[in-house]
Amino acid sequence: MTDHEQPTAVEVEDLEKIYPGTGGRGGKHALKGVSLTIPSGSIFGLLGPNGAGKSTLINILAGLVLKSGGHARVWGIDIDKAPRAARAAIGVVPQELSLDPYFPARAALELQAGLFGIPKAARRTDELLEVLGLADKATAPARSLSGGMRRRLMVGKALVHNPPVLVLDEPTAGVDVALRQQLWDYVRLLNRRGTTILLTTHYLQEAEALCDRIAILADGQIAANDTTSALLRGIEDQELLVDVASPLASLPEVLRAFEPHLATPRRLVFRYAQNGDSVGRILDALRSAELRITGITTRQPDFEEVFLNLVRRRSS
Ligand code: ADP
Repeated sequence: MTDHEQPTAVEVEDLEKIYPGTGGRGGKHALKGVSLTIPSGSIFGLLGPNGAGKSTLINILAGLVLKSGGHARVWGIDIDKAPRAARAAIGVVPQELSLDPYFPARAALELQAGLFGIPKAARRTDELLEVLGLADKATAPARSLSGGMRRRLMVGKALVHNPPVLVLDEPTAGVDVALRQQLWDYVRLLNRRGTTILLTTHYLQEAEALCDRIAILADGQIAANDTTSALLRGIEDQELLVDVASPLASLPEVLRAFEPHLATPRRLVFRYAQNGDSVGRILDALRSAELRITGITTRQPDFEEVFLNLVRRRSS
């Protein structure tokens, strides 16, 4: 099938979620009118700081959390009109490893298929074990599997019902670097075989390595939604912190083009792209502004700051 014959993998319109308040406290407005389209065949990254609403969005799609408003379709199926069919179109790999340590891989997959009501004849247990690289470990208890194997078994459990859309929730949180590469390769393989992937992550690098498109969720709203390359162009910023001897009441004219902000009256913060000659130009401008400089440092903003800056920039 070609792409345009396939339904859109996920479509979300004006999605709202308000968690009811508890013990006299007000409710939490976790999703504030989120609209999003995930094309079939893509690896789509959903990024955002903690508490942004990523899990809420995923859980609504997976039928685990009830939305408060808006619409959602998975593989063209409206989650209100046909909740069971919509749930069958999506598989979710949760963050935490939740495997019974004494259960062998084959038994775990069989049990999961049973939970989904898949008749024995229609199960793909052996095929999955093969794809997951677990065929020769099929009867070994989960506790004897390596970390990578356990992760793959988790993916397998989410795939027993052959969903066209697979959600990976922070797939490499707490996973070492070597294993991370292995998992990435595996995600790419699944995608090449036709599964649309929705991935949530904290790691910008992970989204960069895997995703075609990235949406950033911040405080329950979509702050950015773009191709990975377009988004990262604006995001890969460094900071140059310049301390000056006397407090500045305002920005010298020659520096305005670089849009620094005054963190304190004595500290200017410039943001610049890593790959370019902007540092040189900033230093030239500082020289011609004739400021007495007492210190210069560079800094890579952390993830939360990158988000905040991006959000600020997009809304200004
Ligand atoms: P993320 O996955 O991006 O970290 P979540 O979707 O888990 O964000 O949470 C979004 C917001 O909703 C947070 O402020 C969180 O505290 C709140 N929240 C999540 N689940 C519940 C719940 N069951 N009851 C009340 N508030 C919740």
